[in-house]
Amino acid sequence: MSDISRKQTAESSKKYSLQKHILAINGVIVALIYLVSMCLFGSNILNHLILQITANQYLLIALYISVFVIIIDIINIPLSFYGGFVLEHIFKLSNQKFFGWIKDEIKKFLLSLVLLVGLVEIMYIFLRNFPNSWWIFVTILWIFFSIIMSKLAPVLIFPLFYKSVPIENEDIKKGLESLSEGTGINIQGVYKINLSKNTKKANAALAGMGSTRRVLLADTLLDSYSLAEIKSVFAHELGHHVHRHIWKMLVIGTITGGLGFAICHYVLSKMIEILGFQSIHDIAAFPVICIILVVLGFILMPIQNAISRRFERESDRYAIEKTNDPEAFISTMDKLAEQNLADRTPNRLVELLLYSHPPISKRIEMAKKNIQSLP
Ligand SMILES: [Zn+2]
Repeated sequence: MSDISRKQTAESSKKYSLQKHILAINGVIVALIYLVSMCLFGSNILNHLILQITANQYLLIALYISVFVIIIDIINIPLSFYGGFVLEHIFKLSNQKFFGWIKDEIKKFLLSLVLLVGLVEIMYIFLRNFPNSWWIFVTILWIFFSIIMSKLAPVLIFPLFYKSVPIENEDIKKGLESLSEGTGINIQGVYKINLSKNTKKANAALAGMGSTRRVLLADTLLDSYSLAEIKSVFAHELGHHVHRHIWKMLVIGTITGGLGFAICHYVLSKMIEILGFQSIHDIAAFPVICIILVVLGFILMPIQNAISRRFERESDRYAIEKTNDPEAFISTMDKLAEQNLADRTPNRLVELLLYSHPPISKRIEMAKKNIQSLP
């Protein structure tokens, strides 16, 4: 790559990242404006309107949540269309057709609606029956839900959006087999996923639990990276498996979820009438719970990202040591940065607040140190 094109890529990656960050922050602001307006007047009106149709608690909640989600999704259409479709095309990162995007959005909407209605229905059973300790039961529900979702996502949810098939290329299979020996992941658990249907970006992930645990490698990666580079990506995902990062993330999710529900309980039990709602289990007060969880999530985001970056560094170190090939790791990082338009050197504050992975420059820096320390 020439110096000029390297400079151009660096400039577009800065512009692309900036737009992504602005969109994410706008998303949170729009959500908060919606939730606060619902709290102030919309929620009670919606509740009364639905009560004209039904007094059945379960039906009331299902209808309330459906309308609540439909409204926020409609408000979000401009942001999600620009961020998920237009921006990706402007930066030539997307292969997705307009109707393909709409189809995926409808699937995401229906899936999240079904899951949310199910969760809120159970949450309100606890709120009605255990007004003082509901938050403990809901935290336990949250743990079960997170485990079930982790377990089922690769077999039930991912296939709704992408096809994945076991790796067929014999050279790649052999190369990966030698790395995975003794880790508990075998080559039958390594899948090629057709990301290229939607994007030009490359990616890989560790997903699932127990019998559904697997490594997913994007076709965009398998088709254009050298075997040594594919091995370093695979070894990084093995690192997540060996260091039990999925379980550790679940524990962190449980702690933050539990904290969130405890705060919700405190606020609801102290202020429910001041806020203009009838009781702690009034579905009209649902936006209050959402506001607390969104604000807490926003406050905790830097801590969660710091933990995630730490896990990523652990996996990087594992990959470099396991493959004993820091050069391949460096060329992989270079390729990924270029292909995904990743900002190699983000502002330090942006990194601390928003980055779930260390910036590419730091990941490469670590691998270079590794080369220097070789005998
Ligand atoms: Zn990773």
